[in-house]
Amino acid sequence: MPAAAANPDARPDILAVAKPMALIAPRLDEHFTVHPDDPGRAPAAAATIRGIWASGESRVGADLIARLPALQVISVMGVGYDGIDVAAARSRGVMVTHTPDVLNDDVADLAIGLMLCAARQLPAADRFVREGRWPQGPMPLARKLSGARLGIVGMGRIGQAIARRAAAFGMAIAYTARSAKPALPFAYWPTVEALAEVSDFLVVITPGGAGTRKLIDAKVLAALGRSSAQKGILVNVARGSVVDEAALIDALEQGVIAGAGLDVFENEPGVPERLRALPHVVLSPHIGSATRQTRQAMADLAFDNLQRCLQGLAARTPVPECR
Ligand code: NAP
Repeated sequence: MPAAAANPDARPDILAVAKPMALIAPRLDEHFTVHPDDPGRAPAAAATIRGIWASGESRVGADLIARLPALQVISVMGVGYDGIDVAAARSRGVMVTHTPDVLNDDVADLAIGLMLCAARQLPAADRFVREGRWPQGPMPLARKLSGARLGIVGMGRIGQAIARRAAAFGMAIAYTARSAKPALPFAYWPTVEALAEVSDFLVVITPGGAGTRKLIDAKVLAALGRSSAQKGILVNVARGSVVDEAALIDALEQGVIAGAGLDVFENEPGVPERLRALPHVVLSPHIGSATRQTRQAMADLAFDNLQRCLQGLAARTPVPECR
């Protein structure tokens, strides 16, 4: 860090590749000199930037890392870090941190909410009342969630939080993951397709990135459609990249599956018109962790990680590859 050492009293320079939220921006400004990112231009103070502030949706590629010779840490305010080139960071000795656990409850709550909305048609019910259609007769019958079969794709921190909630609804829970978890009281299926075939609801909660790209494809959707006479419902709270969005739209339009609840999309914030036009799909704008309480906890943890690394202390929550 030659440039930083030349001016030891200065607040460390950091580059914000995601705009810091109002709930953390003043604290960042107090401790660091924050440079906003302008992807079209070389970062200001590139020679002295020691930290990057990022979100779960940020992209930090090898090219940017290479342009920042004093970089020590990339702090992601989010648990998913599929947009960060961790291999490039590691090869330069740059630490990458994220914010696991503090958001488990919120994301699990939203997954249950999307399942309930898709099954009980709550957004449509709201429109039905507001548009004055009730006096003309009752809404069509919806579908029962309690006691149904739930397949969870990804049984990590958030997957387990979803399972705990689903158990309270009396759901029969099964899952797939890279490896079986013998300590958990749920049935393990080695493939997503096999799991989909026995699920009324399939909830996706894996990381994004190359390892899970289009894991939910036309074959999996066909299996979910075969799961019962009333066909399965897909819920995605993971990353848009995990679902083949074109195949999903085809499956929904052709009635291969019964419906979907989606918090994440392939090209956010863009959501295809064909998807938005479908009445049996419930959509939310990537709000899994978007409560004031949880975003504050995430911001505080991301701040601690950044500050500790720049003070030469151990990060609280490094990503697994940097442990
Ligand atoms: P985690 O504890 O690391 O759990 C990830 C799970 O996914 C693990 O069970 C893992 O299997 C499984 N998995 C990984 N690759 C897989 C594959 N190819 N096939 C099947 N399963 C696979 O992560 P987490 O904290 O629960 O977070 C999960 C993800 O949720 C994040 O990475 C992020 O993308 C997403 N997320 C979304 C929101 C939102 O706003 N919608 C908010 C937060 C997080 P093993 O256990 O066998 O390793």
